Amino acid sequence: MESTGHRSLAKEELPMGILWGVDPPEGDLDPEIGVLAVKPGWNVLARVLGPLTGVLTHWHSGFTRVCHGAETCPFHDSPLRWRGYMPIQCHGYNWKGPKQGSHLAVLMVLPTAAKAAKTLRVGDCFTVTRASSNKRSAQVIVRSEQAAQAKLPECFDVKPYVLKATRDFLPPVGPGLTFEEPPEDRLDH
Ligand SMILES: [Zn+2]
Repeated sequence: MESTGHRSLAKEELPMGILWGVDPPEGDLDPEIGVLAVKPGWNVLARVLGPLTGVLTHWHSGFTRVCHGAETCPFHDSPLRWRGYMPIQCHGYNWKGPKQGSHLAVLMVLPTAAKAAKTLRVGDCFTVTRASSNKRSAQVIVRSEQAAQAKLPECFDVKPYVLKATRDFLPPVGPGLTFEEPPEDRLDH
């Protein structure tokens, strides 16, 4: 006797229109992860988790702002500055400053260290310092030959954290960005 409830379907009987392989919802950003801007005097030992992502930015009203292009960017009168962002695991620091243990962070790469950062590969260990105690001093990245013992954490997307750190908005789903008027306090300074 045929059991209609549990028989397997022939290929041509499979229901159409089901979206298989949908990613789980992304959820909130991890509050433990943020953009790490290495200050003079710090010596950050880190491991590369993923690629370096470069963005054009402006320094405006005391913050790094992502440039949206000449057509719509409200900060475009300020000079353009390149900034790189790289997902890392770092030791002895988190994105806020010195902190014991290992942490995930988005390393902000300054142009002076971009060339060195680009030669790094996933899993590589490196140190990040500043050339002097001057807050405008060059950022220095040096690959470390030290072999990491612990398992490499999973990579994560730096973009939502960059937008959060630059006080930007998350783009809506779909092609193109819709642009919002910046709040007045952004324009006061
Ligand atoms: Zn701009």
